[in-house]
Amino acid sequence: MATSPTTVTAYAAPAPKAPLERTTVPRRPVGERDVAIEIKYAGICHSDIHQVRDEWFEGIFPMVPGHEIAGVVTEVGPGVTRYAVGDRVGVGCMVDSCGRCVNCRAGEEQFCLEGSIQTYNGRLPDGSPTYGGYSTHIVVDEDFVLRIPDSLELDVAAPLLCAGITTYSPLAHWKAGPGRKVAVVGLGGLGHMGVKIAHAMGAEVTVLSQSLRKKDDGLRLGADHYYATSDPETFTRLAGAFDLILNTVSANLDLDAYLSLLRLDGALVHVGAPEHPSSFNQFSLIGMRRSMAGSSIGGIRETQEMLDFCAEHGLGAEIEVITADRINEAYERVTASDVRYRFVIDIASLHD
Ligand code: NAP
Ligand code: ZN
Repeated sequence: MATSPTTVTAYAAPAPKAPLERTTVPRRPVGERDVAIEIKYAGICHSDIHQVRDEWFEGIFPMVPGHEIAGVVTEVGPGVTRYAVGDRVGVGCMVDSCGRCVNCRAGEEQFCLEGSIQTYNGRLPDGSPTYGGYSTHIVVDEDFVLRIPDSLELDVAAPLLCAGITTYSPLAHWKAGPGRKVAVVGLGGLGHMGVKIAHAMGAEVTVLSQSLRKKDDGLRLGADHYYATSDPETFTRLAGAFDLILNTVSANLDLDAYLSLLRLDGALVHVGAPEHPSSFNQFSLIGMRRSMAGSSIGGIRETQEMLDFCAEHGLGAEIEVITADRINEAYERVTASDVRYRFVIDIASLHD
């Protein structure tokens, strides 16, 4: 069996806000319960950009982003039971958690009370930093490895590991389905998967985008209706219309305006994570017993459920595949909402 490399090629930001550049980073040797993966594709999530730019908290640099990882198993530790060399697998936003707390035991490792360990910009128990998927190989505990169904190509599957689960989990929790009216705010990486998944769950889906520029795409992806939020009439026309609004926007919104679109007992659920706090008027909730909530990725069991659901319904991401030397350009385009709908790095370009 191959011995996995302990030094791997990667793209990293050397300092906050600095452009990413080619470098090498260490990987641990394959341990008892570890799976070594040769990465084939890595999606670019807006969270990568927030973190490289230190918009959320002080990051760990050099930073190798990437938590939408799809690849093939190249080596397994002696205690690994569920994966074998050659398996098609994915890794998402987490690589470990305590495994003992009430939330881990409930399969909600993303809410681990000791803090789940992020795939990058995190630290392992020994204090060493984690490095993400913009790299040739990764070594991960088998409990945090997902199986990619055969019917999903690895490139379109990669974004499911974050954009897919981050939309699937709240849509399932807030019961998107037949008879339910769901709005998705923002047609980017998360938003376009939200539209596909909500439609596949049987909900009536509306896209609320800044403009009508992507309307044809939105309808093709499964939306029943599409409105521009730059048009003030949208907010009068759709007042009280929705059971669930999923906000995937990376910037602050006028929350009172969006809350006004909920019917009695409707919920506005945030997955978008802007740099700055938002404020809202409590009367926007009180009037119609509305709720406002947030959601973070999903647990490992639910992530596998999402991958199987996407395979069953033929749902992959809409992607633009790029070579690694175009990552910085892709970041600019994502920030300008100029992405249809996920950039995915072809990791073969790191082997050159
Ligand atoms: P993205 O591809 O950039 O999509 C965001 C979309 O929001 C844009 O395409 C755009 O859609 C809309 N938008 C952007 N700026 C806007 C503005 N100023 N006003 C109104 N709409 C705006 O980003 P993403 O990768 O989907 O991620 C979206 C957010 O979710 C980020 O903040 C990310 O960090 C966060 N996130 C959270 C989780 C979680 O677990 N909660 C997981 C992953 C990502 P239109 O052009 O259609 O308006
Ligand atoms: Zn992400």
